[in-house]
Amino acid sequence: MIITNEIAEVRECCQKLQHRGAKIGFVPTMGALHAGHLSLVKLSKEKTDITVVSIFLNPTQFAPGEDLASYPANLKGDLEQLNEAGVDLVFTPDKETMYLPNADTTVSVGGVTSLLCGSSRPTHFKGVTTIVAKLFNIVTPNFSFFGEKDYQQVVVIKKMVDELNFNTEIVTGEIVREDDGLAMSSRNSYLTSLERSEAVVLSECIKNGKKLVKEGSSPAEIISSIKERISSLKTTKIDYIEIVNRESLQSVENFDESSVLLLAVYFGSIRLIDNCEL
Ligand code: AMP
Repeated sequence: MIITNEIAEVRECCQKLQHRGAKIGFVPTMGALHAGHLSLVKLSKEKTDITVVSIFLNPTQFAPGEDLASYPANLKGDLEQLNEAGVDLVFTPDKETMYLPNADTTVSVGGVTSLLCGSSRPTHFKGVTTIVAKLFNIVTPNFSFFGEKDYQQVVVIKKMVDELNFNTEIVTGEIVREDDGLAMSSRNSYLTSLERSEAVVLSECIKNGKKLVKEGSSPAEIISSIKERISSLKTTKIDYIEIVNRESLQSVENFDESSVLLLAVYFGSIRLIDNCEL
């Protein structure tokens, strides 16, 4: 496994391999890797010849006061896991490599970025699309792998790829969960034991939401029942619970085959997200 923090080395490696006909798969991450990240690596290895992973804690997608400074990092452990998973190249740039001192070029997707996570984190998606665009330009992947856990992120990245003609196919991977149903997240490690025990409510509400759809409840009824359940817990504060169209991310009044339930809830100070297509 090649490990490098140099843009030129990644470019040279990827271009050489692509000239020889290899298809490159790319999994961008912020580190603190878990089975969710590794499931994307597995997908990439199944679908492509060479798998590239980036580990970069991207400061521009965190607003002041968010958890950038305390975000968990474990580079040694991450590299061990990636080596074991059969990754070919890991790109571990530092901040100075990715952002020139006077950089003032950004990539910003409109519309869907102002909704849901974009309302409580208004600068977040611009940071995500800027870094992902830069990484796409460095790695030039044939296929890029993103987790459905970050549902809105996938919608935003696909829109960017379509509208800016990036030459990469976006492939999504299912949400990987802990045994009790909590979606795996690097942020789960911050939870106190009470918060951790309450966080399982997200996946319970998803299961219950699916059941209520089958029984004929409306989106408004399901949202209100989920809000009631989550608000009854000690550590929770709801950011949003919405049922939306999977492409426009606009709220729906009636179900069709493209409806998705999205949840963002604070457990203490930790904001967790989850979702399911209904
Ligand atoms: P992050 O390091 O949080 O930026 O995540 C890197 C990639 O892993 C993103 O595409 C995430 O959607 C994906 N990911 C994170 N958690 C999970 C999970 N529990 N299941 C599947 N994919 C995930």
